[in-house]
Amino acid sequence: MDCQKVGRLILSLRKEKNMTQKDLADLMNISDKTISKWERGLGCPDVSLLSELSKSLGVNIEKILLGELDPNEENRGNMKNINFYVCQSCSNIITSTGSTSISCCGRILEPMLSNIENDEHQITVDEIEDDYFIKIQHEMSRDHYIAFIAYISYDRVLIVRLYPEQAAEVRFPKMYGGTLYTYCNRHGLWKHEKTKRRTRRIN
Ligand SMILES: [Zn+2]
Ligand SMILES: [Zn+2]
Repeated sequence: MDCQKVGRLILSLRKEKNMTQKDLADLMNISDKTISKWERGLGCPDVSLLSELSKSLGVNIEKILLGELDPNEENRGNMKNINFYVCQSCSNIITSTGSTSISCCGRILEPMLSNIENDEHQITVDEIEDDYFIKIQHEMSRDHYIAFIAYISYDRVLIVRLYPEQAAEVRFPKMYGGTLYTYCNRHGLWKHEKTKRRTRRIN
């Protein structure tokens, strides 16, 4: 651990939060002399204090140890780069439009790589009035089912969660362009880029 670097990071994060050394010390139930010592690079925070320090400053422990935040280049959230994360323990669904570090239920989540649609995971899209009616021929049993269908356009993310025993279909408002994704709990993420769109007449 580079105590000089760590100290500079603590100082800048504390200032960002408009806290005095005493404020931070009180929050952590330690003496302000300790904070002062860290910030001058005269010592690194003890391991037992890292969790409290990370909560107080709102950064990951890992970043404190590195002494820098390592921010992304600004990407203005290009939706084409969207990543999906699903927690295998609690089924939490998370999306991000830039690189990020995400953990859930104590485990680090990796962005899912998408598969190209195959026969078993093929969707049909019908245009009905102002909607897309999306259907996937896929079983919906408890151990093997489509857990969500997502529609990503240039400016929005729509996710519809599905449950076992329910029909694997969803209606989305028609939007210009966009990509559809489906997520199967057993086979992962599927990208449906060049889906034929049929117009169905309703009488
Ligand atoms: Zn979780
Ligand atoms: Zn499947």
